[in-house]
Amino acid sequence: MITRFAPSLTGYLHLGHVLHMIYVWGIAHTKGAKVICRIEDHDQGRARPEYESAILDTIEWLGFTPDLGISVEQAEAASAYRQSDCAEHYTEVLNRLNQQGLIYGCECSRREIAETQSDRADELCYSGTCSEKDLPLEGNTVRFRIPSDEVIFQDLKLGECHQTPAEQCGDFSLRDRTGQWTYQFCCVCDDIRQNVDLVIRGEDILSSTGRQIQLFQLLECTIPQFYHHPLLYDKQGQKLSKRQHAESISQLREAGATPEEILGKAATLGGLTEDFGPINKNEALSLAI
Ligand SMILES: [Zn+2]
Repeated sequence: MITRFAPSLTGYLHLGHVLHMIYVWGIAHTKGAKVICRIEDHDQGRARPEYESAILDTIEWLGFTPDLGISVEQAEAASAYRQSDCAEHYTEVLNRLNQQGLIYGCECSRREIAETQSDRADELCYSGTCSEKDLPLEGNTVRFRIPSDEVIFQDLKLGECHQTPAEQCGDFSLRDRTGQWTYQFCCVCDDIRQNVDLVIRGEDILSSTGRQIQLFQLLECTIPQFYHHPLLYDKQGQKLSKRQHAESISQLREAGATPEEILGKAATLGGLTEDFGPINKNEALSLAI
């Protein structure tokens, strides 16, 4: 089996990432899976390349070692695991979907789409205004024609999940009008090409899973197994605010924290253990089941 740790280059790693690493490496260990490290910098408007070496350094300092992909030692050689180096691959997959008639160009602005929303949903749902206009893909948002059916999948943590992407988000975007690939599209393309068959990620991404499964299905590729883990909570059981976990691991490290103290803090805030005391990496991994 192959799973992945896929940090984005939009900031330094914080305690939420550490909890995520405990789950990824812990479950991989239980299942005998290999861990890929890939760099998610598909959004060149927001990604900052200077974060990469700091992130890789933190992963290593905490004692986590990827089996494949990008690491401190393999930063140059492994460009197939850095999204900004993979545009050709994404174009190839996009062309395949185009040949199947599964994508179209959309000229609507975000504001125009927002104006069509009838109720207050968690996210914008595109109604398909441009689906029959036959607009060029270049210079427009490229949207995926999603099937209307409900998607049912067995999450390894949450059990049976039901989602209807057509009602959640509608035909979602694979590439924006400026040519930036989207998270949803890159994630599926990468998981296919890197033979990822076990996706471990936070519950905050759960709503994306149904639509990604539809992409896997229409690309006729094997759908990975999914495990969505809980996020960090404070002592009162409230989800930590951005400000509360804004402190980066680099900052904690500079202030004198050890890897064991950081692992203990992340495991406690993640509800895996109770006392905030330091734990070593193997103890941390054994908590993630
Ligand atoms: Zn449109």
